[in-house]
Amino acid sequence: MTPTTIERPPLTAFDRCDRCGAQAFVRAVLPGGSELLFCRHHARKHEDRLRKVTITFEDEAERSASP
Ligand SMILES: [Zn+2]
Repeated sequence: MTPTTIERPPLTAFDRCDRCGAQAFVRAVLPGGSELLFCRHHARKHEDRLRKVTITFEDEAERSASP
């Protein structure tokens, strides 16, 4: 079993950006299995770099959008 196979629940309104504390919409997972959460602003700002160092970069903005 590796960290990459762990099923992770969708982000909720309680998940917060690691940088600024705003609601998180993007989950980035490092090879070691630890998670980083980002709001839209910080996800965009760091996206290029994050995609190189993370194994998962999930943008859940669309799924999390509420009416
Ligand atoms: Zn942020």
